[in-house]
Amino acid sequence: MQDDSIKEFVIQLLVHLDILIVPKALTISSTCVYLVPCMIKTPRPDFNNLQHHVERTICLEYALAQNSIPSALAYKVIGAAIINWPLKEENGKPCLYHKAAVMNVSEDDELSIWLEDNRVMVSLTNQKSLLSISPDVAASIQECLTKNIESSLLFYFNSFGKKIKPTKVSELYTLVLGVPCGTGVCFKSVEEVNEADYWTCDKEKKHETKYLLYWIFDKSQKTCAFECKGLSYSELRTEPSDKHLVRLGGQIGIKSFQELYLQLGMTTRQWENTLDMYGRHSREGIMVMALVKWKDSKLSDLEDPSLKDLANALEKVNLDNHVICQVFREETKLLDIADFALQQTPSDGVLKELSYKVGNCALQLGIELGVSFDEIENSLFKFPKDLPGLIEDVLMKWKATSKIKTFHSLMLALKRVHGRGVNYLQKMSK
Ligand SMILES: [Zn+2]
Ligand SMILES: [Zn+2]
Repeated sequence: MQDDSIKEFVIQLLVHLDILIVPKALTISSTCVYLVPCMIKTPRPDFNNLQHHVERTICLEYALAQNSIPSALAYKVIGAAIINWPLKEENGKPCLYHKAAVMNVSEDDELSIWLEDNRVMVSLTNQKSLLSISPDVAASIQECLTKNIESSLLFYFNSFGKKIKPTKVSELYTLVLGVPCGTGVCFKSVEEVNEADYWTCDKEKKHETKYLLYWIFDKSQKTCAFECKGLSYSELRTEPSDKHLVRLGGQIGIKSFQELYLQLGMTTRQWENTLDMYGRHSREGIMVMALVKWKDSKLSDLEDPSLKDLANALEKVNLDNHVICQVFREETKLLDIADFALQQTPSDGVLKELSYKVGNCALQLGIELGVSFDEIENSLFKFPKDLPGLIEDVLMKWKATSKIKTFHSLMLALKRVHGRGVNYLQKMSK
């Protein structure tokens, strides 16, 4: 036997004995990533107690119709998840535990999955607030997990000779949506969550269903549904992040923008100065810088800039209020192609090459990648007339500081600011 065929035979044997787990229910040759369950011994921290981030977490639970989940099946489910999203690291160690894992879905969103008895528990926590969770992100996580759990169940049942038709696999589990409450989680079925805006639980707590519906959000709907009421009064009191401002600026034409800017309490002189200072950059870039300056000026006047200020100004200049809802949406096509290759970090060489391709979007791209406004201004001073140099500098700052410096997150940010080079990155990730 050739070395390669011996290797392939041993791998197949180990997979057959459940010593190696192929994360997805795929054929062995189509992946080279395996989990070795007997090596994963780190006990899981207490994930059940979500009381420290009650206001920032939504939960899901899949209850399987069998008494307990065998290890091999558990690691198939976990493995499939870590192929899609990179594992979080804590003190330099990946957060992979006995039948549990924590992953970074974005700079601010953390996904935990753990298995207990016959249940697969899932929680999605945003660092800032529930409002900052994108419905597209939550829905794509749920769709991906459901698909993985169904294909793992099908694979598992069929391997044991219990033939099950793919159409019947959804009868093997029940799905409920949950919200942290006290030291536990309150759950409701999808039908119940769809019925009302609130429910009062056994502990006499009132739970909003709005964010739970994110798990089953229809991502194909590009604009707000007819019945969208926009943000609630308390949501509108939120301070817009720089990223929100980028996304808002990207939806408004520069002519209407000037009017909007004046409605926000800024002066024509301030607008002209911004135009003068960032004149070499794209219109979107200029509008973003103007909005960041508005936010800064509010803060330095000891006022609280809020989404409400922006909503009011939009209304006064007769612009659609729902552009604020769009700030929380994500590009779903790219979300759905997340895989292991795209989880790698691009090399410095790739970032340099990319800086010649993306076009004039350095300012928006930097903020969308989470680089601070001050850092971007600092890069602007270093490279006043060198666009690729400026972009490369911003990309290197992202790579040095980001929690999730992957091909995938860079592609998402580029797509968001209409930059070029998404296909180049995909090619380089392979
Ligand atoms: Zn409750
Ligand atoms: Zn809306």
